[in-house]
Amino acid sequence: MTTALSESATNSLIIDNAHLIGGEWVPAVSGETIEVINPATREVLARVPRGTAADVDNAVRAAEAAFPAWRDTNATARGILVAKWADLIQRHEAELDKLESQEVGRPHWGPSPIPRMLHFIAGQADKVLGHTMPTMSPDVIGLTLREPYGVVGSIIPWNAPGPMFANDVAAAIAAGNTIVIKPAEDAPLTPLALAKLAMEAGIPAGVVNVVTGYGNEAGAAIPAHPGVRRMSFTGSPQTGELIMAACARNLTPLHLELGGKSPQVIFADADLDAAIPAITAGITLNTGQVCAAGSRVVVERSIHAEVVRRLAEEMKKVTVGPWHKPVRMGPLINAKQHDRVLGYIKLGQEEGAELVTGGGVPRGEEFERGFFVEPTLFDNVGPGMRIAQEEIFGPVLSVIPVDSEEEALAVANGTDYGLVASVWTPDVGRAVRMSRGLQAGQVHVNAALGAGVIGAPFGGYKRSGFGRTMSADAVLNFTHVKAVSLRGTR
Ligand code: ADP
Repeated sequence: MTTALSESATNSLIIDNAHLIGGEWVPAVSGETIEVINPATREVLARVPRGTAADVDNAVRAAEAAFPAWRDTNATARGILVAKWADLIQRHEAELDKLESQEVGRPHWGPSPIPRMLHFIAGQADKVLGHTMPTMSPDVIGLTLREPYGVVGSIIPWNAPGPMFANDVAAAIAAGNTIVIKPAEDAPLTPLALAKLAMEAGIPAGVVNVVTGYGNEAGAAIPAHPGVRRMSFTGSPQTGELIMAACARNLTPLHLELGGKSPQVIFADADLDAAIPAITAGITLNTGQVCAAGSRVVVERSIHAEVVRRLAEEMKKVTVGPWHKPVRMGPLINAKQHDRVLGYIKLGQEEGAELVTGGGVPRGEEFERGFFVEPTLFDNVGPGMRIAQEEIFGPVLSVIPVDSEEEALAVANGTDYGLVASVWTPDVGRAVRMSRGLQAGQVHVNAALGAGVIGAPFGGYKRSGFGRTMSADAVLNFTHVKAVSLRGTR
């Protein structure tokens, strides 16, 4: 379906130079705009408001005004509105898919996950339960209430703007909060389109507010605002530190979804026919710009040569080009990321890793204007090398040979990150030991990016962040607990 879509910038869901505050589509207070470009061609797709602290303040006030009525809307009704939003998104799936492709540069990556994510969350809205507690005397009843915080602030990245936006907004509002959310300056168009559909679904004005702008302007103003009662951030660990420091000043609770350096551990008995394509797809999906991407292959030495040969063959099959062509991999998001990824590829060679395939910009006229890079494989990477330690956020895979299960576990755990890890083996005992030993928020056995578990919690250990989203707890995480004791009078 997507390959039939035109490459042109036209898209009925593009909202030009307006963001959403209190149900109104308005320009930035400053009047300034930011250009959003297509990373495959550098053509300008649209302009969005360059919001600042003044816009954030307006949005927080609108969200505060909308909060009491939304909090008091019954939970089933809130869930129904989230489900209606999901249905509208389903109806506009092709246009939304094109829009996300246009601003992120990725080819079609299958049916949109957003409707099912939102239906899952919608179903949680009226399952926010408290407890009852025993009491010292029979004339007292003790119970807990789960209450929304009020205004939630959220900052999301550009790599998957649609799912990121839907996930945070739906969980926060299902719990009865209102939200002020800032999409990334590189990919704000899909979030704005989703916000428009939220309004069409009947979610009241002021419940969902979107402020577009740069991170150090609009973004920094959100955790700094005393009206924001709960914060959610997804992005780099460096920015995560700034957000947490800003939250500390207001003692605002938060969760952080940060980066990853996820290991793919392959044991000698692994089913390579399953592992090799899955690992290749995992590091080239979205051009490697996925925080959960498996970027390190930790492999038993006895099958090391075969794994490298087969990975190289598979990576060479990954076609690269603009999203509207029948390719598997698009460009990187922007010039900064392009320089960064190419810089890491150079660094890997300087560090002494062996470049097996890829390593540069693909040749040809269609690659000249966009931010393209080849799928790249490094072998004989030392576990301490920077390319094995730092998040590259590109299609660069490092192979690290090891001699034992103990060493595999130590290498897999030997980075600052701990988001996702995979183990490839049919040996149940080994799978159990590794699942317990790996320091990661998700462990997949014989699968690269998950095996289709519905409602699996997602989040990090160590510098990958803290807090869990996407699960039954996602809605609960946007509530706090009040203990109530009721003493009856005679
Ligand atoms: P990346 O380097 O991948 O763009 P960032 O962490 O910088 O990752 O960006 C993720 C989100 O954080 C974006 O929406 C960006 O605008 C925002 N951001 C960047 N810097 C700041 C900051 N100083 N304060 C608040 N938000 C920021």
